[in-house]
Amino acid sequence: MEMQSLQDLFLDELRDVLHAENQILKALPRMKKAASSPDLQSAFQEHIVQTQGQIERLGRVFEAFGEKPKAKPCKAMQGIIEEGKEMMEEVGDDDVMDATLIGSAQKVEHYEIASYGTLRTYAQLLGNDEAARLLQETLDEEKETDQKLTALAENGINVEAMEPGEQGEDAKTPAATRGRAKARTGAARPAGRAKARGAARK
Ligand code: FE
Ligand code: FE
Ligand code: FE
Repeated sequence: MEMQSLQDLFLDELRDVLHAENQILKALPRMKKAASSPDLQSAFQEHIVQTQGQIERLGRVFEAFGEKPKAKPCKAMQGIIEEGKEMMEEVGDDDVMDATLIGSAQKVEHYEIASYGTLRTYAQLLGNDEAARLLQETLDEEKETDQKLTALAENGINVEAMEPGEQGEDAKTPAATRGRAKARTGAARPAGRAKARGAARK
């Protein structure tokens, strides 16, 4: 469809982000399964539920414009998810896997933040306050998720990934396909964390 107006552009972008969310909803359970850190697992679980709500909310945005929800392939999200999958296949350590998952998830969140920020602004310009409010709600959730991921990375996961692998004989087996080799307790490995923190900051 040839876009002639800001509303056409808005609807095109809305269909793109619906497709992106559908892909994310499919990828998140795999990411949760590959995570070792209980905090990271629950962050992914929480975002699965949130993403379901965001897809529903997108339906209400379409409605606010008198349109039926329709998805248009988002090639960017396909690429981000595909790249993340490839990276996961190359990791052979649980802590490095957790760091990898956080990095991939943050790329997803940043794409969403850009998309929802744009959509919210278009909705405001188009005078659709209801749509603008709904889009702002999702934008806030995506920003919060991004911040939570940053905190998980800085508060330990990136630092743990700096330690050499402790798997011994199964070190060559990808983390995704073997049992969790490292014992995990809540109090694990605080040493050196404070010092390394600056380096983990983005
Ligand atoms: Fe989302
Ligand atoms: Fe896209
Ligand atoms: Fe998200």
